[in-house]
Amino acid sequence: MRAEIIAVGTELLLGQIVNTNAIYLSQKLADLGIDVYFQTVVGDNAARIRLAIETARTRADLLLFTGGLGPTQDDLTKDALAEYLGRDLLIHQPSMDKIEAMFAARGVHMVESNRRQALMLQGSEPLFNEAGLAVGNALTVDGTHYLLLPGPPREMRTMFDGPAAAWLRKLSGEQKKLYSRTLKFAGIGESNLEQELLDLIEAQSDPTIAPYAKEGEVAIRLSTKAADEKEAALRLDLTEEQIRARTGQYMYAAEDIPLEEAVVRLLRAKGLKMSTAESCTGGLLAELITTVPGSSGEFKGAVVTYTNEMKHELLGIPLSQLEGADAPGAISESTAALMAERVRERAKSDYGISLTGVAGPAESEGKPVGLVYCGIARNGRPTAVYTMQLSGSRSIIRQRAAKAALYRLWQELNGLKG
Ligand code: ATP
Ligand code: MG
Repeated sequence: MRAEIIAVGTELLLGQIVNTNAIYLSQKLADLGIDVYFQTVVGDNAARIRLAIETARTRADLLLFTGGLGPTQDDLTKDALAEYLGRDLLIHQPSMDKIEAMFAARGVHMVESNRRQALMLQGSEPLFNEAGLAVGNALTVDGTHYLLLPGPPREMRTMFDGPAAAWLRKLSGEQKKLYSRTLKFAGIGESNLEQELLDLIEAQSDPTIAPYAKEGEVAIRLSTKAADEKEAALRLDLTEEQIRARTGQYMYAAEDIPLEEAVVRLLRAKGLKMSTAESCTGGLLAELITTVPGSSGEFKGAVVTYTNEMKHELLGIPLSQLEGADAPGAISESTAALMAERVRERAKSDYGISLTGVAGPAESEGKPVGLVYCGIARNGRPTAVYTMQLSGSRSIIRQRAAKAALYRLWQELNGLKG
């Protein structure tokens, strides 16, 4: 089944609101195994809504509308579809009762237009609106399926998740459900990961393997249609193992969690604590770690030493290390090592992680934009320093640097690097 989402609303075209309904529906339809080929936005205009329907019918079997089910003159979706299909609009009595009861309870006079919210297309299945007043509609005409959902996101979601999804499941006659698993990777880019798995991705139709990237992390979503969870798990396990065999050194989780959470869990499992000293990332690494609930058990704290003065004052790094013609400078391997060691000592933690580098947009200390050093100090072993040359805008470089530090620590905790 190929679907098209048609969001109705002039506000959308004017850029006054974001089309979050389409985002939500696209995700939900993917979960149901229904392909979305097009998303359309059309204004509150009956002729143009009809044109949108006509166009969508040539390329989709399922048309999902959001918006324009309300009482006012600019709520035209039902009228436009009714006219297009040559159908009448009838009153859905339970919705009418709810509308009347609502007005009675508020003691407000009900104007005639409010009745419009209880209208449904002749021959359609009404979708009761649990979160609002306007009734939704589901119907099939000449092999094309139409689903009319309200515009307000909360009403739309409640209706979709309830009666609309049930209708769609019945429609596709599928006993099988779509099961997905997300594998998460760090330390490798999306295209390199895809390259490693290209033959698998191309050969595999079930489970399907779909990579997608976020800043500093890559996810692979495995999806399979199966009768039950056990059957799905069997197939997903097999594909996961194939992927792990090739790229396990980058795979930090077999569920959709951020890298910082995987790191905190590992520290917790090993009973270890960490602390951070940051320069170019300005505390972003600490911010990521502290987004993980309960990380206070593993994270002792952080210092942001942005200036040389603060690196000297708070971490006790000699000024001769940071300043002067022959000094290594703040952005150097040895300063990264010192920052990591000093914060580890001062915080009395097992690990000290440091970041110092050039986030840009201009070079610093004659060092290029994107050059970042990450120090990892640990008890009783030599400090490791990783040199990275990152690309992107200032904010992307900072984000990638923080994630890269987490990845190095994750490797370290896994015993993947000594
Ligand atoms: P109402 O009964 O409130 O008039 P409706 O079904 O007629 O509902 P619209 O009038 O099109 O829907 O939109 C109502 C409100 O819902 C909009 O002002 C907007 O805040 C929100 N909305 C509508 N469409 C979308 C969309 N595609 N994405 C996100 N929000 C939306
Ligand atoms: Mg409206």
